[in-house]
Amino acid sequence: MKTLSKGSLAKLFAGLCLAASVQPALASADYPPAIWNPAASCNYSSRSAAVTHVTVHTTQGSYAGSISWFQNCSAGVSAHYVIRSSDGQVTQMVREADKAWHVGNSNGYTVGIEHEGYVNNPSAWYTTAMYNASAALTRDILASRGLAQKVYNGSSGWNAVPADSLYNVKGHVNYANQSHTDPGSGWDWPRYKTLVAGGTSGGGGTGTTLSWPLVQYGNKGERVRTIQYLLQQWGYSLTVNASFDTATQNAVKNFQSSHGLGADGIVGNATWPALTILTQQGDSGAKVRAVQSQLNESGAGISVDGVFGPATATAVRNFQTSKGLSADGIVGDNTWNKMAW
Ligand SMILES: [Zn+2]
Repeated sequence: MKTLSKGSLAKLFAGLCLAASVQPALASADYPPAIWNPAASCNYSSRSAAVTHVTVHTTQGSYAGSISWFQNCSAGVSAHYVIRSSDGQVTQMVREADKAWHVGNSNGYTVGIEHEGYVNNPSAWYTTAMYNASAALTRDILASRGLAQKVYNGSSGWNAVPADSLYNVKGHVNYANQSHTDPGSGWDWPRYKTLVAGGTSGGGGTGTTLSWPLVQYGNKGERVRTIQYLLQQWGYSLTVNASFDTATQNAVKNFQSSHGLGADGIVGNATWPALTILTQQGDSGAKVRAVQSQLNESGAGISVDGVFGPATATAVRNFQTSKGLSADGIVGDNTWNKMAW
């Protein structure tokens, strides 16, 4: 029988430690589906401001490499969550109550989610599994704080910097004073917005999900006109005639397939939230015509000129008040929803 030398005992012990390190992961306290694998405490700090926003990032490296980097004090950066591309596995590394270092001046009020991949190869890395996992996480972060979903839909361009007051879920590049470009032009914001709402993820909404009218071939009326204007805003050329004709159906199908939705040509709970675009004073174009035409249906009597001026803002506020919405004059999901009905 072979006796164990001191050296082989040390090897055996090291082997046991290695085995222990890959043992059943601890669950995350903030988000139970996630694995808890903390960042080094030198890479984050405490926070005093409330969490109001979520930041979408791309790792520009591997899942394992990112986790390991956030555990290395040389990093000086961290994120609350890291999501694996292949299967959507979620690792939490910083408690949401603490301030991870991921988006500079906006660290204090945001939760950061890193997505495994590279901005210049989105089709290889931004998988359905990862979109679904990330959207469910974002939905949880907002819902657990009673925050309304205001997910950026990309309508101003992938690298726009819309105000924090307009959207509470944006990319790293969409926050003020950033030098990073993630998640890049290949991140599908309309799809992500729909998934956060629970539209197509199959996970079901959380009670904040809106119900939308079903609109399809053969239908006529104002809500068809709204759909046609919105399709125009998204760049589809079709005639606005308030009649859901073949051209409209084809445009809807094309819109759906380019936004990761089932291309059935029917506008319902999944497609409406992807189609609608946040619209406010100073905006112009077909989306504004959609709003103005809808307001006239409710008796506003304004001109449908595609220019969102003070008269349109007043009419929006009046409409919002009449529907029991807060009268901020901004046409977001709730207001579009009331108009669509
Ligand atoms: Zn980033």
